[in-house]
Amino acid sequence: MAEPLDPLAYRVFVEHLKKFKDASPCPICQKRTWQVLGLEQAVGYFGGSPQLNAPAVPVVQVMCRVCYYMRSFAWMPILSEVPGVEDV
Ligand SMILES: [Zn+2]
Repeated sequence: MAEPLDPLAYRVFVEHLKKFKDASPCPICQKRTWQVLGLEQAVGYFGGSPQLNAPAVPVVQVMCRVCYYMRSFAWMPILSEVPGVEDV
């Protein structure tokens, strides 16, 4: 389950999205009704196979409000673009 973004992290994420001006439509239903769900840990893999204790990668989950399709944005690169913000 995604952890909701705190107000600062939410602002950082929304500012990142604004750089691209227009949200792309959902590839399933073609609507543009995205909802920011929050931070999630995506599990990484070594050598293409699942392993215990694999590294986790923080991502921001975004969900289509119509058909519930989900997308993920890598959080750390977004965070590193913000001067003076080292961790949110
Ligand atoms: Zn959709």
